[in-house]
Amino acid sequence: MKCIKCKGKAQIKLPQHNSRFCKTHFIEYFHNQVSKAIKNYRMLNKDDKVLVAVSGGKDSLVLWEVLNQLGYCPDGFYIDLGIDDYSRQSENTCRSFAQQRGLDLHTVSIPELMGGLGIKEISRKTRRNPCSVCGLIKRYYFNHYALNKKYNVIATGHNLDDEAATLMSNLTRWQTGYLSRQSPVLPKNHPAMVKKVKPLHRLTEKETGSYAVINRIPYIYEECPLAEGARSILYKKTLNYLEFYSPGTKRQFYLDFLKKGKYNFKDSEQANLTSCNTCGQPTTLETCAFCHLIERLEVKKQVLS
Ligand code: SF4
Ligand SMILES: [Zn+2]
Ligand SMILES: [Zn+2]
Repeated sequence: MKCIKCKGKAQIKLPQHNSRFCKTHFIEYFHNQVSKAIKNYRMLNKDDKVLVAVSGGKDSLVLWEVLNQLGYCPDGFYIDLGIDDYSRQSENTCRSFAQQRGLDLHTVSIPELMGGLGIKEISRKTRRNPCSVCGLIKRYYFNHYALNKKYNVIATGHNLDDEAATLMSNLTRWQTGYLSRQSPVLPKNHPAMVKKVKPLHRLTEKETGSYAVINRIPYIYEECPLAEGARSILYKKTLNYLEFYSPGTKRQFYLDFLKKGKYNFKDSEQANLTSCNTCGQPTTLETCAFCHLIERLEVKKQVLS
């Protein structure tokens, strides 16, 4: 098997592109895909203050590495979700990654901020699905922290598999508002909102995994123990099945949606975006979902320093 660029020995096969690359040309391909995403969606400028949301998993650490390699000077942001050993290991992985490269890592702890409760306990207390409360809390603190510390962009490690699974989930339930808003870039459309970007959206989970291995990026292999039964896993499996028999399907499904499908859906919610009467963050309601959660939990919200 030969690299299509240099005819040297190929190490990685990408059936969806009908391509094979040696290590050097795979890295070049990977960086080009990220640069293309950044350029096409005007995600970042070299002078932007970028905060990368890191979990200790391969995608977010690969993103941090690539943005650093491409000269963007990004800082990392880790949220301790208070999920037992999993959270401890994830934080240690992020810390050693940052230390090895001389990068800055910022952290906040959910149990410290929410009266000693971690995601599992919050989910139990509110009788809500753990991933749904976790998503709500993470979105709130990403935005709140970035705004407080004057970062103007938050970058997340969502890859093509994540985005295609979200698309399938939104389509099967005809979530037209979500479909119109699903995008690799969420602009700042409220004074208290920080722009969010997904520079890995053109790359599959397998590709980010290969990049992590080639570049010896240490990451946590374990999945979050609360992920079990998450619907997104079912959608990913379904898409992988299609991809196996018809390489390129996943990529076409998602990237063509961005080009042709998305504009057929209308977003009624964004027009009604206002400020939460309690915390000032953007919401479509009088009080935002995060403040409602705090009220329900009867915990005193801590102020971020
Ligand atoms: S799997 Fe669910 S609970 Fe675990 S980190 Fe992801 S969103 Fe949070
Ligand atoms: Zn090559
Ligand atoms: Zn609020």
